Amino acid sequence: MDSVERIRKYSNANGTSGFEQEIVRLFADDTKGLGKLEVDGMFNAILRRAENTGKKPVVQLDAHSDAVGLLTQAVRPNGMLKFVTLGGFVPTNLPAMKVKVRAKDGQFYPGVVATKPPHFMTVAERNAVPTVASMSVDIGSSSREETINDFKVDTGCPIFVDVDFQFNEKKGLLFGKDFDDRLGAAAMAEVMQQLAGKDLGVDVVAGLSAQEEVGLRGAYVAARKIEPDISIVLEGVPADDTFEPDWLSQTRMGGGPMLRDYDTTYIANQPFQNYATGLADQLGIPYTRAVRTGGGQDGAAIGNWKGCPTIVVGIPVRYEHTPYNWASLSDYQNSIALTKAVLERLDAKTIGEFSAF
Ligand SMILES: [Zn+2]
Repeated sequence: MDSVERIRKYSNANGTSGFEQEIVRLFADDTKGLGKLEVDGMFNAILRRAENTGKKPVVQLDAHSDAVGLLTQAVRPNGMLKFVTLGGFVPTNLPAMKVKVRAKDGQFYPGVVATKPPHFMTVAERNAVPTVASMSVDIGSSSREETINDFKVDTGCPIFVDVDFQFNEKKGLLFGKDFDDRLGAAAMAEVMQQLAGKDLGVDVVAGLSAQEEVGLRGAYVAARKIEPDISIVLEGVPADDTFEPDWLSQTRMGGGPMLRDYDTTYIANQPFQNYATGLADQLGIPYTRAVRTGGGQDGAAIGNWKGCPTIVVGIPVRYEHTPYNWASLSDYQNSIALTKAVLERLDAKTIGEFSAF
């Protein structure tokens, strides 16, 4: 499977927080034969490389399997679904979004996030930001009974963003949904494949974490299972190049991986960060560094594991946490190249230097 085909599969798969099974199955198939896979009741998937010795420092690679989505709260009398959001959607990005609802019997139904049509809105309503509580998902039903009895959709049914992946081959552009963090998950699988059979100075464990979008919950659990000495987080990260001036843009589509120094949950281990950027310089891999005033990612949860030095290798994604994302294939490939280069060089001595004071 080539990179684009892999990205297509990971992007198109249905998965939101708490409903990650489809991504776990895909990852399990994709990494078959590379090591031992363990999946827990939260759907964290932990892949230990076949070549691991149990005697070398442990590197945790991380990517998260969930993506922002919706969850049915209740069926309204008119048959529409009242929902809550899973992860950080803003209300203005929800109306008119095409979705897929998974019924209790496993059937999928198309739906749309519905609001009152403009024709029926008052001037005040047209100018107001709608609340999530006032929105519904319409699956075409006309009554509560029809939704519950015929569609078999009720409280607890997940609602996934529904956008088909497209690739612009000439420009190397990826378009689709859930690039946060399916690009990271696909990249992690690809790194594990490229390292297969190689002798490394470290043991590598890939943790595909669940429930990142609702508070990094899976990564807290995965880190405690993996017990890493050091960690690299592969994350689809929000690009700023379409709205920040050049001098302030730190995550650019086509600008290479973003190595994050700071966000609201996390500060990178600076020696490790400098090691990775130094290596990128040496290998001619483009990158940016980012100091963010918002956001967070699994690195916060993993770094909490006994102060494990952690860096984030981010793949820039335009319009994360909306249905439609753009990303560049070259950024995806450069993120893999840098992660792989770091893993090929890490050993106990180098890792020890990251904690020197
Ligand atoms: Zn993410």
